[in-house]
Amino acid sequence: MNLQDFKDTLSRDACGMTVAEAHEAGVCIDCKKPDPLSRCHSEEGRREYDISGMCEECFDALFAEPEPYCEFELPEAANEKVR
Ligand SMILES: [Zn+2]
Repeated sequence: MNLQDFKDTLSRDACGMTVAEAHEAGVCIDCKKPDPLSRCHSEEGRREYDISGMCEECFDALFAEPEPYCEFELPEAANEKVR
C-alpha cells in the first residue's frame, strides 16, 4: 500500500470518501453539501478545496472546534475505529 492509498483509506474511513471522490462528486468532503466552491469565500478557500476537498466554511469551523480534520488523524486513531 503506498502513501496515497493509505491516505485514501484513512479519509474514506473517517469521511466516507476520498478527496478525489469529493472533487469528482462536486461535494465538500466534510459537510457533503454540493457546490462547495459557493461556500469558499476567498482564493485561499478555493485552494483549500483543491487540496483537502473541504469547503471554506468547514475549514474555518475546523479552527473553531478542537476536533481535528479527519485526514490528519493519526494512524493509531484510525486503528481504534476499526477495532
Ligand atoms: Zn463543507
